Amino acid sequence: MNVFERLDALPPLSPEERQLLDSVKALARDEIMPRAAEYDRTAEFPWDNVRAINALGLNAMFVPEAYGGAELSYAAYLACARELSAACAATGSIWATNFHALKPLIDFGTEEQKQRLLPRIAAGGLGALAITEPTAGSDATGMRTRFRPDGDSIVIDGGKTFISSGDVADLILLFGKWSEIDDARGAISALILEKGAPGFSIVRTEDKMGHRASSTAALAFDGCRVPRANLLGAPGEGLKLLLASLNKSRPSVAAHALGIANAAFKDMTAYMNTRQQSGRKIAEFQGNQFMLADLATDLAMCEGWLDHVADLIDDGETDIGLQASMAKLRASDLAMRISTEAVQMHGGYGYCRDFRVERLMRDAKITQIWEGTNQVHRQLIGRSFVEK
Ligand SMILES: Cc1cc2nc3c(=O)[nH]c(=O)nc-3n(C[C@H](O)[C@H](O)[C@H](O)COP(=O)(O)OP(=O)(O)OC[C@H]3O[C@@H](n4cnc5c(N)ncnc54)[C@H](O)[C@@H]3O)c2cc1C
Repeated sequence: MNVFERLDALPPLSPEERQLLDSVKALARDEIMPRAAEYDRTAEFPWDNVRAINALGLNAMFVPEAYGGAELSYAAYLACARELSAACAATGSIWATNFHALKPLIDFGTEEQKQRLLPRIAAGGLGALAITEPTAGSDATGMRTRFRPDGDSIVIDGGKTFISSGDVADLILLFGKWSEIDDARGAISALILEKGAPGFSIVRTEDKMGHRASSTAALAFDGCRVPRANLLGAPGEGLKLLLASLNKSRPSVAAHALGIANAAFKDMTAYMNTRQQSGRKIAEFQGNQFMLADLATDLAMCEGWLDHVADLIDDGETDIGLQASMAKLRASDLAMRISTEAVQMHGGYGYCRDFRVERLMRDAKITQIWEGTNQVHRQLIGRSFVEK
């Protein structure tokens, strides 16, 4: 058994989870991967991929049974995210965004909110997570979107930028500041915005380097009204919610990056074993073997670390911020390194769209930027060693 097959077999999935993962692999191979290049070219939203994912009922795996789902382990979720992202990074990110957006509702919502809102997602609805604003990126506490209570409603004014699936989502987990709290961090609050809320509009969608088929939208709120019943937690509890949800979404971003890294590694080694120069396969040159050895070793270590993080989450551990940051940081840097080397090993052909590695390199880049840039993660990790 090769190193990666053995690692693939490692997560302690139940027979039911293994069976689902096999179905996801088949879907990725037979339907999603063959469509990826065209979606990248046209930058159209991949609705038929979303329908195919929903035909397998994949959203249900992170929604508890009481709300229309059939919840499986976090390890199973990560394995599926990796497979979908290897086939089409844009599609993988659309599916994972549903999880990132709705997990806080599952963890912190009231019984009434969960009964009312979650069945829509379990049945295949799309979610979005809206934090970033034009003047508040890495420092989310600088957000200016305002939530003003008004009887049974909350009135929202402001805007968000770079929101994945923001224009197509059924439910948006939206962060803003409670108007009655005068504290930059303590005012941050969260609510669920339902599609079609009056006063909510889409400003534009971005034309991107990679993940071109995923939708990235700028949103505006102009006296937008949502029922107060959609407030998640109490006013001012948003930051706590935000940090807890990032701990679950960052390992998912790592799995997504490792999907891209695996696809690039596979394409690179296959090409190096067929392309000949100076009468030898390019995989036979020792310098190239050293490069493969370093990347394969780092890939195996990263996969192993992510399994460890998944174990912690499945065991109910919540103090996992550093482990999650380390997974996100290393997996995304590795996806960029491997995809760049994969282009290099394809020579001039790697620079052309006929080969998938060209797309993988563009898709890899954002994984170092979103869910906290890697500079921010280095800061979080480094700062944890400063003794107080
Ligand atoms: C395709 C795409 C999808 C996205 N999806 C979502 C989404 O669904 N929801 C959402 O809320 N946001 C989303 N984002 C936003 C993303 O999370 C932000 O772009 C990211 O957090 C960085 O913020 P910024 O772009 O404002 O960069 P800035 O924060 O302005 O950073 C610019 C540069 O300065 C560096 N920098 C900033 N602060 C520090 C510091 N303290 N120390 C050292 N360096 C620093 C950064 O690392 C970066 O290199 C998405 C972005 C893109 C491009």
